[in-house]
Amino acid sequence: NPVFQHQIKASTCAYCGVGCGIIANNSAGKVSIAGDPNHPANFGKLCSKGSTLAQTISTSGRLITPQVNGQVSSWDHALDSSAAAIQDSIKKYGPDSVAFYVSGQLLTEDYYVANKLMKGFIGSNNIDTNSRLCMASAVAGHKRAFGADLVPACYEDLEHCDLLVLCGSNLAWCHPILFQRVKAAKLNNPEMRVVVIDPRETASCEIADLHLAIKPGSDVALFNYLATAILNNEPLDQHFAKEHCEGLNALSHDLNSQNLSLSSTAKTCDISGENLSLFVDWFLKTPRTVTAFSQGVNQSSQGVDKVNSIINCHLLTGRIGKVGAAPFSITGQPNAMGGREVGGLANTLAAHMDYQNSEHRQIVENFWQCDALSQTPGLKAQQLFEHVKAGQVKVIWIMATNPVVSLGNSDLVKQALELCPTVIVSDCIENTDTTRYANILLPAMGWSEKDGTVTNSERCISRQRQIVQPLDNVKADWQIICELAAKMGFSEQFDYQNAHQIFIEHAALSGISNNGSRAFDISAMADLNAQQYENLNPTQWPLTTTDKSSRSRLFSDGRFYTASRKAQLIAVQHKQAKHLCDENYPFILNTGRIRDQWHTQTRSRLSAQLNNHQSEAYLSLHPNDINQLGLKNESIVTIKSHWGQAQARLISDPKQRVGEVFCPIHWSDSNSSQSRISAVVNNATDPISGQPEFKYTPVSISQS
Ligand code: SF4
Repeated sequence: NPVFQHQIKASTCAYCGVGCGIIANNSAGKVSIAGDPNHPANFGKLCSKGSTLAQTISTSGRLITPQVNGQVSSWDHALDSSAAAIQDSIKKYGPDSVAFYVSGQLLTEDYYVANKLMKGFIGSNNIDTNSRLCMASAVAGHKRAFGADLVPACYEDLEHCDLLVLCGSNLAWCHPILFQRVKAAKLNNPEMRVVVIDPRETASCEIADLHLAIKPGSDVALFNYLATAILNNEPLDQHFAKEHCEGLNALSHDLNSQNLSLSSTAKTCDISGENLSLFVDWFLKTPRTVTAFSQGVNQSSQGVDKVNSIINCHLLTGRIGKVGAAPFSITGQPNAMGGREVGGLANTLAAHMDYQNSEHRQIVENFWQCDALSQTPGLKAQQLFEHVKAGQVKVIWIMATNPVVSLGNSDLVKQALELCPTVIVSDCIENTDTTRYANILLPAMGWSEKDGTVTNSERCISRQRQIVQPLDNVKADWQIICELAAKMGFSEQFDYQNAHQIFIEHAALSGISNNGSRAFDISAMADLNAQQYENLNPTQWPLTTTDKSSRSRLFSDGRFYTASRKAQLIAVQHKQAKHLCDENYPFILNTGRIRDQWHTQTRSRLSAQLNNHQSEAYLSLHPNDINQLGLKNESIVTIKSHWGQAQARLISDPKQRVGEVFCPIHWSDSNSSQSRISAVVNNATDPISGQPEFKYTPVSISQS
């Protein structure tokens, strides 16, 4: 076991984007974890995953030494080999022949230096992240509407609203502490209503006053109908839309041309007219409305349009920047937001700047003291692996993620990694479905050993602190990246001794030539000394040098980050999913998380308690479909699509819509025979955000 230090430290949970605070008590070699009563996300509470974190602090399965071509290696040799492969590839094929695929599990400091190395010094935008799978559509939707990627609300708004619309979000299982907060608020406020919009009747329906089990993919039709009703409702105050938004006439005209009626929309969404009418009535009459959305909206070939159709309804009613009124994207991963802040996506630049903006590029070039930054868009996750398979990317470095299980169409990921000349993987776990394709393995610190910051879904930056002594031969991700950068000749630009030095550089960059023109600004934190950084309490951004009070809500002044300072109403039309069912693949596959596992289970499966909730992959199917197919309930079935196949135990579930199936994402070929559902998931992505379509794959089901 790790050598424990004796201490009590505040840190954050390893899992979801709620970003709960924990108190780790490391006493006499035993760690116990409790909720941090002072953390504004959770006020001392933890869900099943957070409360079992101590069970996952273990040396079991850890990657403890570097390896090169299957042989144990020194760090020096492994980093020399990695640097040589990258430099050789750049020399022969150019910088775009190298790619990084990183993770929302990285801390902000790790993310910052990875982004700096790729964009500033390798000279390519080929760095993308598994956060592409979680919230890229929200990022693009925010940018289209607000001119910047901003979540305008805070968690308190979920408690202060009178109507909470949960769209494509199983908050009860995926963000359990927020669900508990909403549940408690509803008990205290009998007037509060909750509407769940989800094809499945999920655990979140426990508190729903209305469940709209819409046909998968019909969200835009639903919100366009709502927008039409808002525009046709005379008494509704449209002052905000007229004063602070652009595109009102174009949106009205477009919605009129769509001729959306109650009956046609109810038919498109496959819900009753009564329920649709009730939802619209509640929305129109409730000024304090929050629409919280998550992967059910984002993971779609029309994800960005879905996001904007939601935001349109809030802008049209001025329900933004006010207590209990906002569109609210809830992120999936613990540091997806930190990744957005450092520009860890292939189409963003550091500190929410834009690689296509010459002024922004100049700011970053000067600050990093690097040669010209690339103006060519980098490859987004799915596209990146397609390019690896096609031989255009020769070296890929995968950090803290397991794309062979987590990315859609994942047989292609396997083939790509098999063909790629150099695969570098840095991880804390030795045997994952991805590490087996690595030529070079670099042992990284895991949660509990790492030290840095994360940002949660309400823009709150918290310290994640080291609570146990790291294993002997493992390094922090930022340290691995900096040592490799030094081997490539960039020692001066990557000469950091600790996470604090990286954080204050990141904070300083956010304030350069900003003057309120860019949303992300934490320049007030640039002068934190090491002790202040160590003691940093959870802090919401923005936090500028001229305004040191952080703000819970944005856009209260009706000013946005577009050139005109007005929000943009975006006209969008409902579209069918890219791949539709046919006689060979008659069912729609939906995928998602379950309550007690996390992603590819590399951490959560270490807890016996979590494994008890659900020990194997399952497929939920309506009993009528089971009868019609002549399948045996609780038997193993095969799920097939045009892209691949997987197996799971069949569960009869009347809460599924007929003709639709659900399978959790957590199982792989290593931990359960042939249950890697990502192999079945189709290859469609949103044309703007590049986010993969995880919620709509045509499949067949048969007895195994
Ligand atoms: Fe951890 Fe999320 Fe649970 Fe909070 S809600 S304890 S962050 S998994």
